[in-house]
Amino acid sequence: MLRSDDLLARSLAAVWHPCTQMKHHEALPLVPIVGGEGAWLIDADGRRLLDGISSWWVNLFGHCNPRINAALKDQLDTLEHVMLAGFTHPPVVELSERLAALTGHRLGHAFYASDGASATEIALKMSVHYWRNHGEAGKNRFLSLAGSYHGETVGALAVTDVALFRDAYAALVRGGGTVPCPDARLAADGEPAAEVARRAAAALEAHLDAHHAETAALIVEPLVQGAAGMVMYDAEYLRLARALCDRYRVHLIADEIAVGCGRTGTFFAWEQAAAPGAGTAGGWPDFLCLSKGISGGYLPLSLVLSSDDIYQAFYDEHTARAFLHSHSYTGNPLACRAALATLDIFTADGVIEANRSRARLLGDAVRARFADHRAVRHLRQCGMIAAFDVAGAPPDFARRFFAAALEQGVLLRPIGDTVYFMPPYIVDADDIDRLADGAAAALAAALA
Ligand SMILES: *Cc1c(COP(=O)(O)O)cnc(C)c1O
Repeated sequence: MLRSDDLLARSLAAVWHPCTQMKHHEALPLVPIVGGEGAWLIDADGRRLLDGISSWWVNLFGHCNPRINAALKDQLDTLEHVMLAGFTHPPVVELSERLAALTGHRLGHAFYASDGASATEIALKMSVHYWRNHGEAGKNRFLSLAGSYHGETVGALAVTDVALFRDAYAALVRGGGTVPCPDARLAADGEPAAEVARRAAAALEAHLDAHHAETAALIVEPLVQGAAGMVMYDAEYLRLARALCDRYRVHLIADEIAVGCGRTGTFFAWEQAAAPGAGTAGGWPDFLCLSKGISGGYLPLSLVLSSDDIYQAFYDEHTARAFLHSHSYTGNPLACRAALATLDIFTADGVIEANRSRARLLGDAVRARFADHRAVRHLRQCGMIAAFDVAGAPPDFARRFFAAALEQGVLLRPIGDTVYFMPPYIVDADDIDRLADGAAAALAAALA
């Protein structure tokens, strides 16, 4: 029998936990998880925790999902791994074909890695190398939105506008340009979010007009900036940004690491901005990055989908014109098989459609408890993400709320003063009520 005190002490001694000031664990205990079942995590004392944030936004169909488990067990007895340079295998081929089809074959070439930050770096490198292969090596700078988050490796930090993650490494990071975010919260009273989007696009236009000659790509998180605190904006910005990038010959990278895989109500968030037949690749981005949910939350898998125009710029007799990037586990068969099982569930269960009513339940539950709360500001929702900001929150609000939510048996982890819900796509009405009730109790405790 596992003794939980023992496990916590051993973890603190031997494991350096991510995104954590380890000293804070002197006051806030780690949560020892020994099992998972559907939307629930089970701790070492048998306590159950409802996973309201999909275990950092990765889990789509619950923990220990029987269908994904079965696919992985089968794959485990067939082929666990083979290098992808010079070799191929059925799961990576099928996954690439199915993702290409989901973009309407506009982004038909899939390049694989393991973590989201690697996908960001691949897209950045591909963009610069594309321009170099076209004789425009001067186009090598990047542009991102205020508050952007695209990962934390040194290259990805160059397009991540989160001071807390970036400042300590400023000496290592080659900063890019930052343009205003079309954050819908910036709307004046009665002003539609699309108007904020048009203003932000005007600023983008001014920047591109001055800097397009040295700019390789603009990178955006379509519709929702996750790590910034679930900042939501109108799809009009994406349409305008696409047109401007076409006009100024700048690539557009859609980082759908968090918002892809159905999170915003469509499989790709970009679908809500795509105008059939317009511009480059029918109004789609040049690159689209996926990770997090694509493997159902099972295994590290990330990928970059790119257009034929991008792919062709590397297709040549000369090795140096090729994209010579690799990771040891690129295209791992187990991870790809988990992704195939995940896509199977989307189809078999009509998940995008079913999530419409699930998202309505989530919105209703959150509005019912928080719309009139004196401390709640900017209650907002995009598909299976709901969020609000808390006015007058104490400096340690996020940790206090998190700890109070745990007491209620729900896993919710605010970003700064923003409380958000991002549950897996299997929560039912009872689960949603439990999450919202837990949040209401946690908010009261954190503000007390
Ligand atoms: C999480 C995230 C990343 C980084 O992914 P990792 O797997 O954590 O490296 C990049 N972009 C966005 C939008 C993300 O939410």
